[in-house]
Amino acid sequence: MNKCDSEVLASILKEEGYYYTDDFQTADILLLNTCSVRDTAERKVLGRLERLRHLKEDRPGMILGVCGCMAQSWEHELMEKFPHIDFVLGTSRLAELPKLIREVQETGRSVIDVSEVAPQNEPIPTVRESSVTAWVTIMHGCDNFCSYCIVPYVRGRERSRSASEILQEVKYLAESGYKEITLLGQNVNSYGLDTEESLDFAGLLALINDNSPGIERIRFTTSHPKDVSEKLIDAIANLPKVCKHFHLPAQAGSNNVLRRMNRGYTREHYMSLVDRLRLKIPLISITTDLIVGFPGETERDFQDTVDLVEKVGFDIAFCFRYSPRRGTPAASMEDQLPEDVKMKRLYELLEIQDMISISKNKALIGTAHDILVEGRNPKDKSQLLGRTDTNKIVFFTEGDDLIGQIVTVSITDSGNWSLRGELIRGY
Ligand code: SAM
Ligand code: SF4
Repeated sequence: MNKCDSEVLASILKEEGYYYTDDFQTADILLLNTCSVRDTAERKVLGRLERLRHLKEDRPGMILGVCGCMAQSWEHELMEKFPHIDFVLGTSRLAELPKLIREVQETGRSVIDVSEVAPQNEPIPTVRESSVTAWVTIMHGCDNFCSYCIVPYVRGRERSRSASEILQEVKYLAESGYKEITLLGQNVNSYGLDTEESLDFAGLLALINDNSPGIERIRFTTSHPKDVSEKLIDAIANLPKVCKHFHLPAQAGSNNVLRRMNRGYTREHYMSLVDRLRLKIPLISITTDLIVGFPGETERDFQDTVDLVEKVGFDIAFCFRYSPRRGTPAASMEDQLPEDVKMKRLYELLEIQDMISISKNKALIGTAHDILVEGRNPKDKSQLLGRTDTNKIVFFTEGDDLIGQIVTVSITDSGNWSLRGELIRGY
């Protein structure tokens, strides 16, 4: 979501006549687009703001703005701590960026706009990192209030975009040569429930599938397990463009912890969802998010999470140490766990998940897959990087002209996060 917002911000600035530079030392405008989901992300921003004090002293005419979730939650506090910031722009107010810049330029004073009222016309990104795959926001905010999570406080209530607006953006992307879109929302499964329209998320998937010539693949993230319907499972199974990959954050494997996280489902419900997905879509890959060290998590609770991980066999699990977030119910719960216990559990879980990912990827050696070629491997430019329908990254060595194409590769080697392949010619 933040990456998508950064593209929107870059697009707004481009409209204003600015261009993007990697060189922050000489930039006229420097934007920090922040995340506050975990403490580490916030600390990174605070460190960076501290280091930028000198740059601002040397170049007082340079404009420094802070956007994103931290801007929304810290507001005036950020300005008080770092008086060299010129403006603070909230998550619903991206379209107001030019106005804030002009105000700073004209008055020389700092400005804050963290209103939660979103402007009528939502800016559509024209500057995108990739020329093959694109994010499409289908809804903003979240109504779920999981007890550990700051998102509903910094991104507001759920607001679905109209289907016609989404379709228009998808058509524009197809005409611009994009091949894959990822539909974005904190809980895409509740798409449309806040509107008068009768279209739900499964219906939206079908609508896009049928009305997006040129787009070959449709992905989406994130799905809340309490809101996955049978209709959605059928849509993924039957719609040819919808990728066979489901990111389904479990967060924990203990019913006790899930209840205190306010997740609204049990471990049994989660497992039955996985069974139903695999029954209807046998080759589907399933990935997840997990939090260890939630307040009051006992060793037994933690072992329930380990057990869930072993029973489900996720393709990938993003594992996080619980990080108390200001103003969320979990931050004031008793029995906060010491960091060393959280770390120990995190490493144990990562090790188990690594073994599962490695063995799942190894099983793919010798099989053939259609991959959409996205670009070059950032770490080794001689290799191309593509992705399977099931969202596995494949590296292979070939010429440039394949970027943006779907090609077939045979898997020759595997690691825990990626695969290596060889192009099958004339397939
Ligand atoms: N909306 C998505 C969902 O319901 O799963 C995810 C949104 S959140 C930005 C991404 C992930 O960050 C979550 O799935 C959760 O695992 C993790 N997360 C959120 N709050 C956290 C916290 N306080 N400490 C550690 N991890 C957290
Ligand atoms: Fe946070 Fe829960 Fe909303 Fe996801 S569903 S954004 S974890 S409150």
